[in-house]
Amino acid sequence: MPRDPVCGTNVNEDRAAGRSEYRGRSYYFCSDRCKMEFDRSPDRYATPDETRERDDRTGRTGWTGDRSR
Ligand SMILES: [Zn+2]
Repeated sequence: MPRDPVCGTNVNEDRAAGRSEYRGRSYYFCSDRCKMEFDRSPDRYATPDETRERDDRTGRTGWTGDRSR
């Protein structure tokens, strides 16, 4: 059973009040409020996994030096 990442409640997919997709994963929410909260700052609630870590490492750190030019 998927878990509401905002409040930690187990949510039945069929009864979920809301659903969001973030970085290729689906998240289910017990209420509209939790969904809104997630949509506002998904990075804070999304489950970290390998794909995401790899993405962060290659994506962001690589470009910081570009500014000094
Ligand atoms: Zn919730």
